[in-house]
Amino acid sequence: MSIRTRFAPSPTGLLHVGNARAALFCFLFARKADGQFLLRLDDTDTGRSTQAFAEAIRADLDWLGLCPDETARQSDRFDRYEAVFETLVEQGHVYACYETPDELERKRKRQLARGKPPVYDRAGLALSADEKAALEGEGRAPHWRFKLSGDQIGWDDLVRGAQKIDTASVSDPVIRRADGTWLYTLPSVVDDLDMNISHVIRGEDHVTNTAAQVELIATLGGKVPEFAHFSLMLGADGSGLSKRLGSLALADLRASGLEPISLSAHIARLGTADPVVPVQTLQEIVDGFDMSRLGRAPARFDPEDVVRLNARILHETPYALVADRLAEIGAPAQADFWEAMRGNIEKFADMQNIMALINGPITPVVEAEDADYIRQARALLPDAPLSLESWSVWTGQLKHESGRKGRALFMPLRMALTGQSHGPEMQHLLYHIGYDEAVARLEAGGK
Ligand code: GLU
Repeated sequence: MSIRTRFAPSPTGLLHVGNARAALFCFLFARKADGQFLLRLDDTDTGRSTQAFAEAIRADLDWLGLCPDETARQSDRFDRYEAVFETLVEQGHVYACYETPDELERKRKRQLARGKPPVYDRAGLALSADEKAALEGEGRAPHWRFKLSGDQIGWDDLVRGAQKIDTASVSDPVIRRADGTWLYTLPSVVDDLDMNISHVIRGEDHVTNTAAQVELIATLGGKVPEFAHFSLMLGADGSGLSKRLGSLALADLRASGLEPISLSAHIARLGTADPVVPVQTLQEIVDGFDMSRLGRAPARFDPEDVVRLNARILHETPYALVADRLAEIGAPAQADFWEAMRGNIEKFADMQNIMALINGPITPVVEAEDADYIRQARALLPDAPLSLESWSVWTGQLKHESGRKGRALFMPLRMALTGQSHGPEMQHLLYHIGYDEAVARLEAGGK
């Protein structure tokens, strides 16, 4: 069997980390099995779906490196849904209902008051052709429900294990609204079948929908895919994430300067007992991915964890993987420079601060009691051009001549050359600051 998964967002908002987790799991599962990963835009709600959100979703997936092998949009497939719908109506699997939302609500309340589960009473199914005509004469348009069997539906969920849902305990789902628009069930099932989806991987908020979907698939004569419903993600404070909340929108995490690999590495392990490890490539995450490791407890997402992982990842990132980005910010094209600097940054953008220390302008900071020392340092600065050896030659000589050592020896030099009391290795900074600029800073500081 060829493995095909799909990530099926509605382009009615920005993707948040919870959506990214669904996309990532679909991608990882497919890649691990040499299968295909599809992007399906669930845009049947043409009023709320927008092209701008569809583009934002693609941009977010591109950023994460989760490139789909195929893309589909439900709004291109309305004819197909219509044809399936007509067949289902003809065969009596789908039936017309005429209740208004108020009437349904009253029924629900009555059932609850009698201590009964609020399951739709199938009044629509009992209507004769004349009764339907009369209701339509009143100006009512039908909405449409799929008739469930009342049987137990079971599946072996890849995350949750054996699942059983008694379809007698759920209402026949409305699959089409009175205005003709589609609810999610029918288009999703038809697409999963037409697109040969082997594994439906999604959040556990869809577990209860699964029974109706399995029945619809069986009614259509299709092969039921495997299901994996992973636990929902909560914010660090335990609150739910919502697409409309936008608080943990991928676009924001991206704008905050996190590496996409850090986010993926973190969320791939969230909700498992496995340690989060710094990786450099998606392939490493694919190799370490195992859906059966996912637990059922909700996964808490704290962006601070990603920031910490981001730093760990950058501290190990080889030069070749960042050479282009370093060139873009005008950093020296040298592996040893990157290797000396990377341990000082949390986000790649921090490299700009390091470049600012090198390129200036900086304001040298020299304490009054160090002014003589800085003048002495100026006098002993090795000749141009400076090299990576200059710093140790210089400080060795200064130690000898001034009698200073440790912090008293080094700190005034750092403060005079960078204006800061902490930062990356001076050996590399001094070399890249260069002779003329170092002289200028020492002279300005030693005045
Ligand atoms: N469009 C649905 C959603 O975003 C897809 C659910 C599914 O994966 O089946 O919830």
